[in-house]
Amino acid sequence: MSELTAENAARAIQLVKLKYAAMLPANFVMPDKDRFKFYTLAGGFDTVFQSIYIKTFRKANNAIFGDEKIGAAGINGFVTPDVDPRDRIIYINLDGAGNFGTLVHETLHAISHADFYPRYYCVGGQAPAVVEGITEYLTRKTSLTVGMNRSSYEDWYLTTESWVGAEGSTRHQQMANWIFRGQMPAVWPGNYL
Ligand SMILES: [Zn+2]
Repeated sequence: MSELTAENAARAIQLVKLKYAAMLPANFVMPDKDRFKFYTLAGGFDTVFQSIYIKTFRKANNAIFGDEKIGAAGINGFVTPDVDPRDRIIYINLDGAGNFGTLVHETLHAISHADFYPRYYCVGGQAPAVVEGITEYLTRKTSLTVGMNRSSYEDWYLTTESWVGAEGSTRHQQMANWIFRGQMPAVWPGNYL
């Protein structure tokens, strides 16, 4: 049975809140499950992907994908690039390979500081890889079960983990301050691609 449900979205949001509340800005309001929109490819996901994802992210992803056309079928979900986190919508592809961890991953994009996502992401070059590596690191650390059932962005996750090391390290704190508070570290590895 698919794990891509509104009930699991609520659980994913709660898991992220429990894990990272102390790292978020004071008074940060977590999204609720209604911010998730679940669509089959033909039932709307392809349409929103074409209109939002390709228009906004294709240029940023040029270094990774080149001019290759990215199809909606290969995308498990994405978050609209609104600057204010309260305006972001999380689209999930019910025909994709996503699982509960996808809901956690997308929740992290949805609560990221605007200077990390979408602004830094949209710089292009290495940036999308760095953003996905960091988001995936934090996704896999929310629980052992989530970590064991993830394989997305494996190389970028491993690059991030080898740089950050264990949770609680100085670099881990820098990473948290970047994604959740928009404070970009002075030094971060540039060999993600
Ligand atoms: Zn992502």
